[in-house]
Amino acid sequence: MYPVIILHKGREDSVMRRHPWIFSGAIARKEGDLSVGDLVAVADFKGKTLGYGLYEEGSLQVRMIGFGEQTPDEAFWGEKLLSAYHLRKSLGLTDNPQTNTYRLIHAEGDGFPGLVADYYNGVLVLQAQTPGMYRLLPQITHLLPGVLGNKLQAVYSKPAEYATRFDSALRDSQGLLWGEMDEIEILENGHRFKVDIVLGQKTGFFLDQRENRWLVAQYAAGRRVLNCYSYSGGFSVYALKAGATLVHSVDSSRKAIEACRSNLVLNGFDPETHVCIEADAMEFLARMDNDYDLLILDPPAFAKHLNQKSKALKAYRYINRLALSKARPGSFLFTFSCSQVVDTESFRSTVLSAAIEVGRDVKILHVLRQPPDHPVNIFQPESEYLKGLMVYIA
Ligand code: SAH
Repeated sequence: MYPVIILHKGREDSVMRRHPWIFSGAIARKEGDLSVGDLVAVADFKGKTLGYGLYEEGSLQVRMIGFGEQTPDEAFWGEKLLSAYHLRKSLGLTDNPQTNTYRLIHAEGDGFPGLVADYYNGVLVLQAQTPGMYRLLPQITHLLPGVLGNKLQAVYSKPAEYATRFDSALRDSQGLLWGEMDEIEILENGHRFKVDIVLGQKTGFFLDQRENRWLVAQYAAGRRVLNCYSYSGGFSVYALKAGATLVHSVDSSRKAIEACRSNLVLNGFDPETHVCIEADAMEFLARMDNDYDLLILDPPAFAKHLNQKSKALKAYRYINRLALSKARPGSFLFTFSCSQVVDTESFRSTVLSAAIEVGRDVKILHVLRQPPDHPVNIFQPESEYLKGLMVYIA
């Protein structure tokens, strides 16, 4: 028997619409012994089970893992994993000679609230974002070889940084859960990258930019490229391979710059054709006097909470204004926001404000987003987080 969360009359509506989050104000009563991370049943005011979820403290109290009567047993998790895998298979990602890396589980987007799983050429990195999901990792890990088959060599747990802030025990729990692993090298659209899952940022690599990197490659030939917030050089490698005449990568993290250098060498580029610059990107943009004609701005999430939104929008406006004002006539700018709280419209109007301020003729050529292995849960628009624009600056 699971502890039961009973909702106020009328508050079952959002659960019936399959939105996976339940806030404290919707809850009338809690029955049974309950602690953070527990699996709970959720019922309407008459006691009818609406589904199951994971319990947390704070204003967001339950994240739903399933809607309806089915209890979250092994078969339940097995079906969910298979469904996530089949989606990636139908996207052509599981057996692809050019790309052996993809996101297998995209949290709420795949019905796994609080869990991300990235597959790196045989090694699956599980990133639990909540204590409830963290507790479920052994059960999920146990099912993974049956889903991924003999391609799977290892499963590694790397709890999200912000989860470790709430639960310090999670910080020490990073490590191998299953199998064996060595250094990891992946192929993405035929480009080689080393991935440091242990010390790198997030799960080790930003898989969410795969399709946007491909798009950069379509425009990079003969261009002078500035890649700001470059991390391990994803966009830089694509641009050079596509024939960019020069690429400068800027990141404030020394580790990221080192990873970028080693990925350029791995792809056969002479470090001379490319410069890695360890610097604050805002300062670099403010000072730069180089005439780039393809610019990329892919900053970290400037806003992690709604109360930081307006400050974040100012920062986006600032960097976009600098890029738009300094780009050579005839340039392309790829500009992104990965802040969940900054929606597509606000981001677009921020770039618009920047364009108004610099007084140049700017046209939107592509509207960019996260790739399909990062699906958006239609019932929970918050799972759409990466947005971008590719603009032409006349
Ligand atoms: N475009 C990258 C991902 C960028 S993630 C890719 O395709 O892989 C954001 C990056 O911004 C991180 O590497 C982080 O180290 C860097 N960063 C954070 N703050 C920064 C700052 N103030 N100036 C420059 N880089 C910064």
